[in-house]
Amino acid sequence: MDTADVIVIGGGTGGYSTALRAAALGLDVVLVERDKIGGTCLHRGCIPSKAMLHAAELVDGIAEARDRWGVKATLDSVDWSALVATRDDIVTRNHRGVEAHLAHARVRVVRGSARLTGPRTVQVELSGPERASGASRFVARRGIVLATGSRPRTLPGLVPDGRRVVTSDDALFAPGLPASVLVLGGGAIGVEYASFHRSMGAEVTLVEAADRIVPLEDADVSRHLTRGLKKRGVDVRASARFLDSEVLEDGVRARVRTARGETLTVEAERLLVAVGRAPVTDGLDLGAAGLTTDARGFVVPRDWARLETEVPGIHVVGDLLPPPSLGLAHASFAEGLLVAETLAGPPSAPVDYATVPRVTYSSPQTAAVGLSEAEARTRGHEVDVNTMPLTAVAKGMVHGQGGMVKVVAEAGGGRVLGVHLVGPHVSEMVAESQLIVGWDAEPADVARHVHPHPTLSEAVGEAFLTLAGRGLHQQ
Ligand code: FAD
Repeated sequence: MDTADVIVIGGGTGGYSTALRAAALGLDVVLVERDKIGGTCLHRGCIPSKAMLHAAELVDGIAEARDRWGVKATLDSVDWSALVATRDDIVTRNHRGVEAHLAHARVRVVRGSARLTGPRTVQVELSGPERASGASRFVARRGIVLATGSRPRTLPGLVPDGRRVVTSDDALFAPGLPASVLVLGGGAIGVEYASFHRSMGAEVTLVEAADRIVPLEDADVSRHLTRGLKKRGVDVRASARFLDSEVLEDGVRARVRTARGETLTVEAERLLVAVGRAPVTDGLDLGAAGLTTDARGFVVPRDWARLETEVPGIHVVGDLLPPPSLGLAHASFAEGLLVAETLAGPPSAPVDYATVPRVTYSSPQTAAVGLSEAEARTRGHEVDVNTMPLTAVAKGMVHGQGGMVKVVAEAGGGRVLGVHLVGPHVSEMVAESQLIVGWDAEPADVARHVHPHPTLSEAVGEAFLTLAGRGLHQQ
């Protein structure tokens, strides 16, 4: 038996951030990964999808250049294999970078599949070059961290075949771009893929069972996003339910029950299922350590402030956590830092999920932090709300894509409870709002700070000036 201070199971963003921080704090760390260090975010999620969405932005820019700016540009075609090559190069370089960080921090990376054999012990079925040596057993002196992440979910009766019926994983490795796509699921992943394929010229239908897309966001965010996607030609269907589908020679035929109760038949070259993600615990043998999951398969911490499970010394980070964790890579980084610091010394501050930003990188983008207007009211706050169109500032007009800034604050000049953004580049603008909400700022505090002119961020400044009774371009 080998010993380590900390054994981390899973080398995605949650696991590798825990390992890096724990090692930086002087702990001896074993990190077990059965596939690739970097996990979903690096290989199948955040990074490849954002690389593709960057290419989509460039394609959209050609149309804008032609239609609005007199630039005599035309789009010839998109070379999917060239796009994939650039995307994969970015992933590969990031992958190497993370592996190098781990090596530099002296984290012992063990390639293989881990399972718990007790509250402090882990057995690893080795893979790769070490495979021949069979299984390895480890004892954790301080703790075990579960970071085994999530995988795509599907709907009953809908089995992805990787070709016609695909998940977000499969979509990355498709042989080419489809001419038409039916996307099931109007959360961030579904919306991003719908937006990407539309930019690439596909006919796109986006089906969401809830009464609006991005249903966890403020209703105005959904409204603006829906309007933006529809303007771009995406057929957005909210309150619509997938009924069934059949795979055809050259595509898929699906039936959907629309909001009006009618049956809509959609034929598309590809059906992309993006109805959420399910936690991964198979093969982990949680029971051997005395652990259970909730009904949905999540590992629920007994102590959220330390992300410690019902078994002392076993912690959990990342997509394996249920809400209020957010299934986001940056939330998993914060969780990794917390758990590593908890294991190394005095506990650090719990993750404040209310101030973690949520972004959809579609066109238009959405970015939000804190409470929606409806949530604030449900929690008993009396609120002042200011919604400002992005086109109220000059740079918003330059971009010409619409969008908005919505601020929800306690009535009478009190704390800012939520900021909600829709429009171009708002993913880069939300960091300011995160500090505003996280630091319990009031509109007057923000209004004191001058925003650069002319920028999109000026709209955020203006929205707060108005709430503080000092509006310039919005009375
Ligand atoms: P994972 O990244 O899933 O890592 C878990 C790792 O554990 C895997 O590498 C797996 O191989 C390994 N593992 C599992 N079981 C075992 C075992 N028994 N033994 C050894 N290893 C094991 N988030 C954002 O913040 N921003 C975004 O823009 C964003 N975009 C996304 C786009 C898509 C298409 C998808 C699918 C997700 C996106 N996410 C985004 C979410 C983000 O990817 C996840 O929140 C994040 O990857 C979760 O990290 P994790 O470490 O919990 O799990």
